[in-house]
Amino acid sequence: MARQVQVTKNGTSAVLALAQWFERQKRVLPWRSEPTLYRVWVSEIMLQQTQVVTVRPFFERFMERFPTVEALAGAGEDAVVEAWAGLGYYSRARNLHRGARAIVEAGGFPQTREAWLEVPGVGPYTAGAIASIALGKPEPILDGNVERVLSRVLMLGRGPRFKLRLWRWAGLLVRLAHRSGASPSVFNQALMELGALVCSPKSPDCASCPVATHCMARQNGVQEQYPPKKPPKQWIALEEQRHVWLDTATRRWLIEKQPQGRWRAGLWDFLEEAPGAGMARRLGEVVTRHVVTRHKITRTTQIWALSRSACADALGAHAQSESRRWVDSNDLGVAGSSAYKRTSQAVLELVR
Ligand code: SF4
Repeated sequence: MARQVQVTKNGTSAVLALAQWFERQKRVLPWRSEPTLYRVWVSEIMLQQTQVVTVRPFFERFMERFPTVEALAGAGEDAVVEAWAGLGYYSRARNLHRGARAIVEAGGFPQTREAWLEVPGVGPYTAGAIASIALGKPEPILDGNVERVLSRVLMLGRGPRFKLRLWRWAGLLVRLAHRSGASPSVFNQALMELGALVCSPKSPDCASCPVATHCMARQNGVQEQYPPKKPPKQWIALEEQRHVWLDTATRRWLIEKQPQGRWRAGLWDFLEEAPGAGMARRLGEVVTRHVVTRHKITRTTQIWALSRSACADALGAHAQSESRRWVDSNDLGVAGSSAYKRTSQAVLELVR
């Protein structure tokens, strides 16, 4: 409580200093120049788990291809997933597409944080970002950057209610900024920008920080001890098998789209099925390792050179279709899982 009183007392000058700093120092980003609901929503979904530098060109291309929510809703899911190729975490593309259809069907964009939470793929952080940046509402946000800044300024240690306390502080501060005359959009983006540019995980640049005089961790010389480290992750080990059906004459291989309802649905990958007996000669195998959220996946991929007759049969039986496709080594731009892409590189090196 004492800390809350202190922050409220000093808070006005801190939040205004931060907002003014942002206006001077902010990066020029394509979604900032025209912060419509559609553009902010798409950018926030892309920025989940992906860095600004990677998102930037993807965002501009995506906007050229789907300039409005109606254009996105009217496209097929495959086209949206294809446009997402290279960004990874494809469930984001599918949720965006489903969300666009729901928004068009509802006759317009949600106008509150709570209503945005109903849109597929939108969680508390994204809903707060859209409501504050595009709608100007004093709603809090909390991502990794904001967590670090707040944890340091307030010297908040990790405990059972660490996140909840941070959310409360983020809410209190954005409302204070709003009452003090700073826009919630500017204040929230300023917090994120401070975390991204100045208050870095290691060696924060406190000398350039607009809230240095309010920062408790700095006053105590313990900046890098906040936020305290998370307990180590509990990993789940998974093993999977794939088979490369290779036509050595054309150097093409067969891929299939993962069916709906399964992990990696809609993404292309090598086949789970091995060629039948006598159809192919085994060239070798590659073992690759992938990390997805809490899963450590070991993938063993067998590489098979199809016999000429089997190849002709396979070509006939598996000609280009909705769910199977022959591709060559230049066709790595398909919407494949990160595991497929990494395995493709390893396979290419083996058959080169
Ligand atoms: S003073 Fe340093 S540790 Fe504190 S918020 Fe600023 S950059 Fe981060």
